[in-house]
Amino acid sequence: MKILPPGSTIGIFGGGQLARMTALAAARLGYKTHIYAQAPDEPACQIAACRTLGAFDDMDKISQFAERVDIATLEWENVPVAAVAGLEKHIPCCPKSSILHVTQNRLLEKGFAREQGLATPEFHAVRSPDDLRQAVERLGLPVILKTTRLGYDGKGQAAIREEKDIEKAWKSLKTGEAIAEAFVPFQKEVSVIVARRADGQMRAFPPVENRHQRGILDETHVPAAIPDAVRDQAIHMATTLCEKLEAVGLLAVEMFVVEGQILMNELAPRPHNSGHWSIDGAATSQFEQLVRAICGLPLGDTRPLFPCIMKNLIGDAARDWQDYLNMPGAHLHLYGKKDARPGRKMGHVTIRNRREEMES
Ligand code: AMP
Repeated sequence: MKILPPGSTIGIFGGGQLARMTALAAARLGYKTHIYAQAPDEPACQIAACRTLGAFDDMDKISQFAERVDIATLEWENVPVAAVAGLEKHIPCCPKSSILHVTQNRLLEKGFAREQGLATPEFHAVRSPDDLRQAVERLGLPVILKTTRLGYDGKGQAAIREEKDIEKAWKSLKTGEAIAEAFVPFQKEVSVIVARRADGQMRAFPPVENRHQRGILDETHVPAAIPDAVRDQAIHMATTLCEKLEAVGLLAVEMFVVEGQILMNELAPRPHNSGHWSIDGAATSQFEQLVRAICGLPLGDTRPLFPCIMKNLIGDAARDWQDYLNMPGAHLHLYGKKDARPGRKMGHVTIRNRREEMES
């Protein structure tokens, strides 16, 4: 397997906080990073060695970017497949474009999991109000309708609780293709992040529990309080998907736990918000693991060093940053964003969970 040594340049598509934290981890291992972003003040541009400013469909700019980096990765899974395919003519991109093709579409993503024998919520493809009526009949109420593409943080979704909601839900999505899913009465939402190298070596972070507020991740609890058998199922699901997709880099898998079973909800072939705890709470962070995986370095230890909670600082919540600096066992991360708009992820804090420590 080819090793890309320290001193090489890693190109990152996207200039947000995930790119910023990847660039910081890369720098620690002696790599340079070059950010492909849209504006000079984006979080990653503030700290990386080089940047190219351009749109994600500007093939000339993307070619110039490719000439200046040794390998590319991304922080946003919706970079157009054509752009990544264009880049791949010059240099490898992790994840490759064929993976993005699957993970950019919720129908393909869940279909892929099913083909591997993995459980997902029941779902149907929906391309008209009539399709939706049939899907509701087959799935039973309540149903969650989601756009197949570009949904995030609960956006692009509508709940159907009664038959009279059908028409309104379809119209609200403003799309020609959607996925209707049976509502899962889950006990917990968990996620697993797996790293894989080009030679197939893999290592998973332990399952963590994710708690949301208004569709946005609020807290991640590490490790997830789930029985060993459920933990093993979750890790099996994530490693199977990573292997079958032949992903190189990271794959984050969001799952529901329902009656001791794991159902796959969503994939992201990149660092994930639910892995931020690992910067302070594991010997190897998810960002360092990404660098190690794509550069062909040994994969690092993923075990938690202590139980912890990662809390997102969203919008105005970031104003309390000084309180966290005064809190023993708290690690504060701010992303360098100027406007604290509602719903905007401004930073996060990882807090050592002393209560669990005392109980154990
Ligand atoms: P998603 O964008 O698919 O991750 O969905 C956002 C959130 O909506 C999830 O984190 C869940 O809390 C909830 N959700 C999504 N799909 C379902 C489902 N089929 N059943 C119950 N809750 C769901």
